[in-house]
Amino acid sequence: MNRFFCVLSLFVLSSLNALGQLTDYRVFFGLTNPQPHQVILRQWQQSGQTRYLTLNPHTLKTAVVNLPPASVRALPWVSVVDQLSQTPYARILQLEQTRDYNLQDAGIERADTTERGFSLTIDLCPSTKPLTRLVFEQLIRAFEPEEKPIPVTITITGLWMESHRSDLAYLKNLVSRGDLDITWVNHSYHHRYNPRLPLPMNFLLEGATNLNDEVLLNEQAMLKNGLTPSIFFRFPGLVSDKAVFGRVLAFGLLPIGSDAWLAKNQQPKQGSLVLIHANGNEPLGITDFINLIRQKSPAIENKTWLLYDLPASLVKRR
Ligand SMILES: [Zn+2]
Repeated sequence: MNRFFCVLSLFVLSSLNALGQLTDYRVFFGLTNPQPHQVILRQWQQSGQTRYLTLNPHTLKTAVVNLPPASVRALPWVSVVDQLSQTPYARILQLEQTRDYNLQDAGIERADTTERGFSLTIDLCPSTKPLTRLVFEQLIRAFEPEEKPIPVTITITGLWMESHRSDLAYLKNLVSRGDLDITWVNHSYHHRYNPRLPLPMNFLLEGATNLNDEVLLNEQAMLKNGLTPSIFFRFPGLVSDKAVFGRVLAFGLLPIGSDAWLAKNQQPKQGSLVLIHANGNEPLGITDFINLIRQKSPAIENKTWLLYDLPASLVKRR
């Protein structure tokens, strides 16, 4: 590791719980200097400092950092992508552009198919019900000590965060205890849904949707709550069209779908992105998931069946 990144790592703030007022939040594209370049995605002011959300284009991991002005090079997005053409990030951006047209489940829906297991994604859409903590208790019981921390992806909405303070604290505590390693994914702020509307006019496709707010307000809510937004985005209802998909890509984000929504009876395959809801609204998927890990318990114990970290699994995807 070169000297610059030793210094940089000292300034990684995400784990310091250095929260506080957050202003002037904006999309800011660029690269850090010197090499190896990190992608700069966002800039804002917090606690009297300029902070950035950056992405390592080789590992797909994000970080919240302070950067000295000399190491910040603002660039148009096309130039950023151009200079990263040999990285996993650029490869996955290209792949996304071939998966942008489905009304449901567009985006990446499967990772590395050579894996003996899958990536678990858990959606926290707005809900009046408490978090289904049983899922996390069962996960920890099933996978420790074979996997510790257990990698899981949680997609989260602003409205859920507003009304589930103690549930969010519970999840953050599972991370600080070393039980879970959570990849936090933006699932939009409001996650609007109208049961009377057909899908092509629903969720983010509903009239008068402010996509900027849905993406950027939710990122700010995540940061204020001490969560580092990952490079991924999941469409509410897994519903999108080519236009909204393109606009999400233009934020630098990578949309993720799912090829194994358990409550819809879709069976997980190797490298699947399995989807369950732990917001209290999908008991069927939770029961299926708990049955699945019970049935797999001998394979979990001899480590032939595992949960995979989503960023790492996508980097390996061929
Ligand atoms: Zn949702």
